[in-house]
Amino acid sequence: MSTPADTQVDIAIVGAGAVGLAAALPLAQAGRSVAVLGPMNAPRDGRTIALLDGSWRLLAEFGLAEILADRSAPLAVMRLVDDTGSLFRQPPVEFRASEVGLDAFGWNVENAELVEALASKLRETGAIRHVPGLVSGIAQDEAGVTLTGEGFSPLRARLVVGADGRRSRVRAAAGIAARDWLYPQSALTAIFAHSRDHRDASTEFHTRKGPFTLVPLPGRRSSLVWLLDPDEADAVAALGEADFARRVETQAHSLLGAMRLDGPRGRVPMGGLSVECFGAGRMVLIGEAAHVFPPIGAQGLNLGLRDVMALREAIGDAADPGSALVVAAYDRARTADVRLRTGAVDALNRTLLTDLLPADLLRGAGLLALSRIGPLRRLVMRQGLAGGMRG
Ligand SMILES: Cc1cc2nc3c(=O)[nH]c(=O)nc-3n(C[C@H](O)[C@H](O)[C@H](O)COP(=O)(O)OP(=O)(O)OC[C@H]3O[C@@H](n4cnc5c(N)ncnc54)[C@H](O)[C@@H]3O)c2cc1C
Repeated sequence: MSTPADTQVDIAIVGAGAVGLAAALPLAQAGRSVAVLGPMNAPRDGRTIALLDGSWRLLAEFGLAEILADRSAPLAVMRLVDDTGSLFRQPPVEFRASEVGLDAFGWNVENAELVEALASKLRETGAIRHVPGLVSGIAQDEAGVTLTGEGFSPLRARLVVGADGRRSRVRAAAGIAARDWLYPQSALTAIFAHSRDHRDASTEFHTRKGPFTLVPLPGRRSSLVWLLDPDEADAVAALGEADFARRVETQAHSLLGAMRLDGPRGRVPMGGLSVECFGAGRMVLIGEAAHVFPPIGAQGLNLGLRDVMALREAIGDAADPGSALVVAAYDRARTADVRLRTGAVDALNRTLLTDLLPADLLRGAGLLALSRIGPLRRLVMRQGLAGGMRG
């Protein structure tokens, strides 16, 4: 198919969320012509992202660390508290970044701020074409893929990167089967100002209904991710600002003192998604188009950024970035890592949801082992960091 030169690129990224934008920068820097398609905005809904060490280093390569420095807080300590009321309740376990020779496990930043910072970098770069319209048509032939949509003329690419989230159109067009599932939970998200210092520590209370986590932000501020069953989430979400803050303060056992809501709140139904493969034909999947997790252990976006690193490596200096060799190399690189983490996060979430004694025992024993056995603690911390952060 022949098309005018200005509608052809090496790589078209569908989806301008954090992962799509983060992919555009290194691929353009490697000398590829890149287009990003889709609106560049993320809702302000209290969601923050704990960017783990490896992710932070990737973003630092593009000058993002300076932009994000005063918008993010270091995670120097991670505390796990068994708040299940179980017979086998264990004392809190603390992981310190200093134990593995780091200042911080990662940095916590508002998702909307991260997308904004990436978007401003992308505009500054100038070399990346941005098409704000949504993609509605994806047609593949041997030599490339043609993208169509409202408000732009057809765009042709040798490789299409699906960064278009959970309901990915690219995934459907590539014929990649996905399995998705729902948990009987919703996540409430919010940002709070509080009267006590968080001392750069995040605290994850493991409750019967799911984790309740407070993660530090700059100053005396923290973000909340609270997993509840959907009915209870509705009831808590319906509370007025002051009652909501009081409810959160009680649930946190006043760890951070008096709490006040400091921005919009959000509510997200919890589910997971995994794919049969990470690429087919001339299309590959990154971010939530390829994997969705419940927000336990700061995995989702960090894994998306690992997709980006693997894609950059798979493309390397290949003459054709959409060749079968490149797509197969990317698929191989992501399969083991993503499967491992999907299984681990799912298993942890399911043990937190069960009332069965053996699961309690297991979790209690696991926390106890982690708190007492130094080498095991360090192994868990290193494993997590290698994976973009925690296990
Ligand atoms: C409560 C909560 C807390 C979380 N905390 C963390 C954390 O601490 N650490 C972590 O690593 N992860 C965390 N995550 C996960 C993280 O938020 C996601 O992994 C990440 O935001 C996914 O980014 P994405 O770019 O892949 O997808 P999205 O943000 O969903 O972006 C997809 C983009 O594609 C666009 N799009 C869709 N269809 C089209 C189309 N047809 N054409 C063009 N564009 C299209 C959309 O407009 C959107 O901009 C959390 C998630 C939740 C719910």
